[in-house]
Amino acid sequence: MLRRAVAVELEVTKELNKLLYSVEAMYLNIVREVVEYAIANNVTNPTQLHRLFYSKYRQEYPSLNSQLVIQAIRQSSEITKSFIERKRRGLVGKPYPEVRSASIRFVETTWNYEQFTSSIAPVRITISLPGGRREVWIKPHKRFWLYWWRVLNGEAELAGTLIVKRRVNKWYAVFIFEVKPREAKPQSVVSFDINENTVAISRINLASTVGMVADWNRQYVTPELYMIRTDFGRLAKRYERIRDAIIDRLKPHFALPSGNYVNIADTREFRKRVKHLRERGRKIGRVRHVANELTKTPAIIVTEELGDNPQESMINGIGKDELRHRIKQTPFKSIEKVVEDKALERGSRVLHVSAYRNSRVCPIHFTRLEGTDDWHILKCPLGHLVDRDYASVTNMFWKLTPEAWAKGVWWNLKSEEMNWKAREGDSNPIIPHPIVQYLHATLKEFKASFEQSPAVLARGNPMNPARGANEGWARKPPTPS
Ligand SMILES: [Zn+2]
Repeated sequence: MLRRAVAVELEVTKELNKLLYSVEAMYLNIVREVVEYAIANNVTNPTQLHRLFYSKYRQEYPSLNSQLVIQAIRQSSEITKSFIERKRRGLVGKPYPEVRSASIRFVETTWNYEQFTSSIAPVRITISLPGGRREVWIKPHKRFWLYWWRVLNGEAELAGTLIVKRRVNKWYAVFIFEVKPREAKPQSVVSFDINENTVAISRINLASTVGMVADWNRQYVTPELYMIRTDFGRLAKRYERIRDAIIDRLKPHFALPSGNYVNIADTREFRKRVKHLRERGRKIGRVRHVANELTKTPAIIVTEELGDNPQESMINGIGKDELRHRIKQTPFKSIEKVVEDKALERGSRVLHVSAYRNSRVCPIHFTRLEGTDDWHILKCPLGHLVDRDYASVTNMFWKLTPEAWAKGVWWNLKSEEMNWKAREGDSNPIIPHPIVQYLHATLKEFKASFEQSPAVLARGNPMNPARGANEGWARKPPTPS
């Protein structure tokens, strides 16, 4: 099951606004106090916290629905757990989490869930507030109706818990939809590779009926190759400059009598200014764009197996601080996660292949590629040039075919167990055998057609005096193997 949260603004009168503010204040107070206790005493178990605090807050806030007290305590346990986990991983420096806002949770019995879900076009909710149940109109928008349509179609379900949340001075109801993963026939096989400023994509469209492979006509089929500009590296560089400028501007205000400076990055003023930059928001927008592009039609999506910390393995061997920083800022993992999520929702499937030698082997001759002056262009010993990205995404395709096993150049035989038999025929649960055959036929055709137009693999001149300028292209440095 996939979860999708949809926030819908509430139509709020002055009086209701006051009421919601008072509930929020009580709720937030409970969360803050319980979290503080939980961390100081290392108690994270929700049942234990409930036993300790429930009656105390029932007495303290008699007007608050008992279910809200229960939810506030449960939420405190979750916040504490995630804080302790982040602290363990060294991601937070503070001794306590700052609980700045609360998402007020209304469980099934504290709002008109039944009535709401039985409606064809719901436009209001009824929630339990101090003084009794209140009817509130919502302002549904396109996205909400889109999910609602799925509920009516049986493709999604509305979760029982409703979240009420404030953003600045507007109130929102957050509906949680549980969407059933879609089953669809793949229309293409897509491989992608994430670089610092681009995502390279290769796509092979499948014939309308894969069964036709038997009399597959020897039509000229070339895997499509294109790039999506993401500019994560450039974005990181730009924000780095802006941050430095902010630090310089604030410095005079934080000089100590000794002549030293306080660490500006730790100050409230700095955080306040940085917040307005919306660096994260921009990045997320680009990540989603990539995921949308990859999953727009049902496909089998192939990508490299990333380690736990892909950035670390890439910056090994790169001396330049600035470049290291930019690679660190490339959201490899988050692109992968969003793609996987979207794929499930839209009926695509994601398959991981080993990263071994993907951009080190000629996808035509299966020979080891050599470097050129241009970091991005490689040279096949048989005398032609290969674009590194093209090699990488094409070799990912090869890895799905029997060729990969027969040639063996894509596998690290020492560390990987070769077991083609187990993956043959219908036993591969992700790629049906006819698709593997089709893919193989396409690649073989592509390989044969290469002799007619060898330029297709490289779009650049290795003589480019590019070294410095080339940096923007940076991707994984060659790993010694
Ligand atoms: Zn070659």
